[in-house]
Amino acid sequence: MSLIVQKYGGTSVGNAERIRRVAERLIATKKAGHDVVAVISAMAGVTDGLIKLAREMSAQPSEREMDVLLATGEQSASALTAMAVNALGGKAISLTGAAAGIVTDGVHTKAKIAHISPRQINELLAEDYIVIVAGFQGQSPQGAITTLGRGGSDLTAIALAAALKADDCQIFTDVDGVHTCDPRVVPDASKIDEIAYDELLEMAGAGSKVMQSRAVEFAKKFGVGFEVRSSQKDVPGTKAREVTPNMEDVVVRGVSLERNQAKITICGVPDRPGSAGAIFAAIAAANLSVDMIVQNASGTGTADLSFTLQKDDLVPAEIMLTRLVPKLGAAAMTATTGVAKLSVVGIGMRSHAGVASRLFECLGAAGVNIQLISTSEIKIAVVIDETELDRAAQATHAAFGLAQPRPPSNTAPT
Ligand code: ADP
Ligand code: ASP
Ligand code: MG
Repeated sequence: MSLIVQKYGGTSVGNAERIRRVAERLIATKKAGHDVVAVISAMAGVTDGLIKLAREMSAQPSEREMDVLLATGEQSASALTAMAVNALGGKAISLTGAAAGIVTDGVHTKAKIAHISPRQINELLAEDYIVIVAGFQGQSPQGAITTLGRGGSDLTAIALAAALKADDCQIFTDVDGVHTCDPRVVPDASKIDEIAYDELLEMAGAGSKVMQSRAVEFAKKFGVGFEVRSSQKDVPGTKAREVTPNMEDVVVRGVSLERNQAKITICGVPDRPGSAGAIFAAIAAANLSVDMIVQNASGTGTADLSFTLQKDDLVPAEIMLTRLVPKLGAAAMTATTGVAKLSVVGIGMRSHAGVASRLFECLGAAGVNIQLISTSEIKIAVVIDETELDRAAQATHAAFGLAQPRPPSNTAPT
């Protein structure tokens, strides 16, 4: 008998009717002769709603209490799913992350999984239960509830598939699979049949939130193959796996978009060893993460340094740097919001030239100004004005020929 882990995201369990549909699918999978472990997310909007409520209680709620609060979203959705399965004549039981044996470190709101002891899951599977696990959460060695970062139910599913040595791991969501761009922005984006872990990792890290990047990282590290597929339609999705030789034939696999970015530029930084170190050590000490970093040295013994960060981190970064900039002997600092990041990703870039020029020419032709550029072996990213992001995405997607093949026309050619 094979074991399948299925994860259902927030929209897929977004109301009673959808939960019933998930329950039917779980029962059908069980009836087809598989052992089934389901990982359930909070119902759509619940996590955001709880965060909003928490902020109404306190400007800075403690991270420990945030975890206790947010974990309830997944717990209610998994209990409701178990009830739906049982009402339809199946046999299901729900478990919190802790009861499922998921042990994490003690870093609240972004805990890392330390290990999983799936003893109870295995016992319940042996008793023929469909085991339903609340996603996104675990327990620290001290017994505190922890959560795994936004989108963390993906990580629960991948980590359980690894720990249980599952034969298959299916991530059910509200799109048919990973697309060449977010289909909400580029309607003719096409579904990707097969994607390398490295590509999905870069895409997730660059804003394609269809999979949590930490989950993809975990899958790559432990070789967990998985499929991202639709919970609404029974069609094949996207299979993520280690790179295969023919994957390099495709130069650009997808275009990723990230909104809510901010940019800081420090001008006239003395061009001497230690300047950048001092700036980024202070940023790291304030627990802020920066993304793109670009420095250009002028001929006059100074350099201009720009970097991006999440918009929410801008105010604390500005407060901290306003103090540091004069001490460093730098001339000035500017901070900008309203910027976004667009990235093209593909492992084919390792062996094909000309991707950067094609991207820059396409953005130039669309009248989109590029503010910052950064590259990795398989990604080129640019920072642009956020108001131009959708238009830039559509132009880039077209320039790299990523659109769906048109359905055959019914009209015979004349
Ligand atoms: P879930 O609740 O199932 O975890 P998410 O909302 O986290 O689902 O992820 C699915 C969403 O990701 C889609 O609705 C889509 O808008 C967005 N998305 C962004 N980039 C992509 C992409 N390249 N391919 C598919 N979906 C994408
Ligand atoms: N409910 C959590 C979130 O909204 C985790 C998840 O859905 O994967 O981020
Ligand atoms: Mg998600």
